[in-house]
Amino acid sequence: MALNKKNDLYMNCPMCDCELPMGGDEKVGEEISCPYCETPLKLRKSKKDEDKLILEEDF
Ligand SMILES: [Zn+2]
Repeated sequence: MALNKKNDLYMNCPMCDCELPMGGDEKVGEEISCPYCETPLKLRKSKKDEDKLILEEDF
């Protein structure tokens, strides 16, 4: 049975597809680097769903 905690947010790295735990207070435009593949990532709003945030490579 999966726990469904509100603040337990994970996002997938677009490069290595690992799950990155988010604190829940990240903001759009914030830069994060993947701890696994060290790709610089930027937090963006999804084009399909504006309530959803996605990570994109930011070289
Ligand atoms: Zn990665």
